[in-house]
Amino acid sequence: MSSPRRHDVLVIGGGNAGLSLAGRVRRDGCRDVAVVEPRSVHHYKPLLSYVASGTATLADLRRPQDEVVPSGVRRYAGTVESVDPARSVVVLADGTELEYGDLAVCPGAELDWDAIPGSREAVATAHAATSYLPEQAEKTWTMLSSLRSGRAVFAISDRHVPCAPVGLKPLFSAVDVWRRSGALDSIEVELLVEGPHLVRHAEADRNLRAAADEYGVRVRLGTTVTSVDAGARTLALATPGGPQDLAYDALYLAPPHRALPWIAESGLATDGSEGFVAVDPETLQHVTHPRIWGLGDAATVATLPSGGALRRQVPVVARNIQARRKGRIMDRYDGYSVAPVTTSRRRLLLAEFDRHGTAEPSVPLVDLARPRPSLLLFDRYLEPLIYWHKLIKGRVS
Ligand SMILES: Cc1cc2nc3c(=O)[nH]c(=O)nc-3n(C[C@H](O)[C@H](O)[C@H](O)COP(=O)(O)OP(=O)(O)OC[C@H]3O[C@@H](n4cnc5c(N)ncnc54)[C@H](O)[C@@H]3O)c2cc1C
Repeated sequence: MSSPRRHDVLVIGGGNAGLSLAGRVRRDGCRDVAVVEPRSVHHYKPLLSYVASGTATLADLRRPQDEVVPSGVRRYAGTVESVDPARSVVVLADGTELEYGDLAVCPGAELDWDAIPGSREAVATAHAATSYLPEQAEKTWTMLSSLRSGRAVFAISDRHVPCAPVGLKPLFSAVDVWRRSGALDSIEVELLVEGPHLVRHAEADRNLRAAADEYGVRVRLGTTVTSVDAGARTLALATPGGPQDLAYDALYLAPPHRALPWIAESGLATDGSEGFVAVDPETLQHVTHPRIWGLGDAATVATLPSGGALRRQVPVVARNIQARRKGRIMDRYDGYSVAPVTTSRRRLLLAEFDRHGTAEPSVPLVDLARPRPSLLLFDRYLEPLIYWHKLIKGRVS
């Protein structure tokens, strides 16, 4: 049998994390970088929220994968089935084996419909949808924009949902449209949030609560959807006051996510990591396999997973791969993350914070946690250009 093909740095997943890291490592001078990514179309996921808000199309966020892989980086169009850390080998579904010098594991997370029995059946009907899947994002806006009366329920999980507060974008877009058309008087809007706040940034949280109040949205914190009856259109809830049922006419879900099963099966998870790649959240190095790194939605980064967080994680992993090889001191990631949230169809705020919830503004003097029209334009139109032309080419400092 021939020995596996070897790459100096091998990256699992050609999403935001994988392409940014591969491009960055290549730019830093590594000549032999490869990415394994099965999907032929790359998605800029943050625009899904705008598709679900009726202000973008799927065509705006899709590019052929081969066009966005950074130059000089080889792509394998296969699916990783397992990692064998003892042999430093990654095994693809077609049996191909790839050996690595260092391995970055960033295959993202998957929706966990099993966590809410009945939710998969519900989103197959016209009365429930999510922005967290491309095929559901357009349907979200069709459902919301056609509602004229009844109860609209928005339920946001805090179980590993990538950039969970952006689930509020379709809500604020819908209530804004409903108010202008007069329909808001006939629509009762309930926002169910599993966690203790809308966003982990005190001022941004206050501003979002004030915007919700202004539209008459009933906000219920600490409230979990435990099951959905798609036929009867009712939710079973666990609330601070005990179990309750709630009927809906339109249901938006930002559903729980989970780790891909082969991560744990390959020994890359630990007892406490819930199946996610167990890394030191500061150095992003695997806790037991020093040549394995984890970043993005797949790893235990101990903060809100987001594309914005990757701007800080990618340089840390790129530098730490070199630091390990040269015996230098490693860089540390402070858990910076960001949630851009609209408060209407005209304004957006940016909540930037570290892993302790302390505000960490990236721009001095301007208060980005205050909703502004300029921030909405930045997030909707400028960020995608920065993503395509800079971030996924590895120009991340
Ligand atoms: C609806 C939505 C809105 C969002 N809005 C924002 C926002 O406004 N701002 C923000 O900062 N963040 C936002 N995010 C979060 C952001 O998109 C993610 O945090 C980011 O994409 C994570 O990147 P990743 O590379 O870790 O995962 P992904 O982008 O999910 O990429 C993972 C890649 O790995 C591949 N893969 C999976 N399994 C395998 C396998 N077995 N073998 C090989 N490859 C595999 C997948 O095909 C995929 O391409 C949003 C996310 C969603 C879903």
